[in-house]
Amino acid sequence: MIKLQQSHPYRKPRIRYRGKRPLILVSRCLNFQNCRYDGSLIDSPPAEILKKWLAYRTLCPESDIGLPSPRPQLKLVKTFRQGWQIRQPDGYNLYRRLRKKAREYLREYNSIQGLILKEKSPSCGISGCKFYYPGKGSPAGRTAGVLPRETDKLMPQATLISAEELNNPEKLYYFLVRIYTRQRWNKLKNDFSPAVLQEFQARHKLLFLGFNRELVDEMGRIIAAQKRYNQSQLIASYEGLLDNLLQQQLTRGRWINVLLHGFGHLSDYLDYGEKEEFQRLIDAFQEGQTGYLQLHSWLESQSRKKDVSYLINQKFLAPYPLEINQDLAAITLLPDPF
Ligand code: SF4
Repeated sequence: MIKLQQSHPYRKPRIRYRGKRPLILVSRCLNFQNCRYDGSLIDSPPAEILKKWLAYRTLCPESDIGLPSPRPQLKLVKTFRQGWQIRQPDGYNLYRRLRKKAREYLREYNSIQGLILKEKSPSCGISGCKFYYPGKGSPAGRTAGVLPRETDKLMPQATLISAEELNNPEKLYYFLVRIYTRQRWNKLKNDFSPAVLQEFQARHKLLFLGFNRELVDEMGRIIAAQKRYNQSQLIASYEGLLDNLLQQQLTRGRWINVLLHGFGHLSDYLDYGEKEEFQRLIDAFQEGQTGYLQLHSWLESQSRKKDVSYLINQKFLAPYPLEINQDLAAITLLPDPF
C-alpha cells in the first residue's frame, strides 16, 4: 500500500461562489498541475482557452486523499461480493476514500454548473475507464470512474465533459449552452420572482423551441398557472422541465423552424432583396453548405439595424458569450451542434 501523505493541497473554499461566470470543477492534471500517476500533466488547449470564461476550481481525488505523484497506477476492479474497488498494485482498496473525497467536492461546490474531467482515470473518467474482474489481466470493459458516478447520484443536473470531448464541436456546443443556461437559471433562483421567470422563459423561447416544443409548451403552462403553486413548487416544476429540455439534441430541421420563427419578427422591416438573401442562407444551411453562425450573424445584424428588440434579446443567437468562439478560432475549433 502506498503511504498517504499527511498534508495535501486541497483546501475548503471559505466563501460561497456568487460570481457571474459558470462555476466548473476541472481535473487538476488538465493544464494545472503535474499530479498524474506518472508525474505528468495533460495539455488541453480548449480547457486553457475556457479558463478566461469560466470560474474554475480544480480537483484531483487521488492527490487530495494524499497519494503522491508519481505513484503506481490505480486499477478499477468489479467484484461480485463487494462491488467496485479501486486498487493499488498490492490490492489495497481506495474506493471508499476516493468516493468520500468526491462527495466532499460535490457538497462544497454545490453551485457548480459542470465538470471538465480527464477521461480514462478510475477517479475522474466519465465513461472510458477500463475495469477488470479480480485476477484478470485484461480489461472486462469500460465504465465511469468514482467522481462521475457520485456526480450522477448527487448532482445529476451538472454537465460533464471530458478533455477529449472539448475538441468535439458538437459536444463543446452543448456543454457551453448547458452551463451558461444553468448559470442564468441559478442566478434567477437566487433572486426569484414570477416576473423574472416569465422574462427568462421569453428570452429563451426560441432557443428552447429548438430543443423541444412540447417541453416549452409545458413550461408555459406552469408559468400561466403559477398562482396554484407556492414558490418552491414553481421553481422545482420548472427546473425539472428545464433539466429535461437541456438533455435534448438540436436538429437541423427544428433549428430551421426556429430561424424562420425569428425571421417572422423581422420580415416586415426587410425589403425584397433582404428576404431573398435570408432564403438563400436558409437553403444553403438546409443543404449543409453553410454554417448556422452565418445565419445567426445575419439575423443579429439585421435585428440591430432595424432595432427589433425581441430578436436582439433572444438567447438563441448567443446562448453563451460569442467571444468564446473568437478565442477558440485560434485553435481552429468552433462549437457547432450540426
Ligand atoms: S485524472 Fe483525476 S485523479 Fe487522476 S491525476 Fe488527473 S485529476 Fe488527479
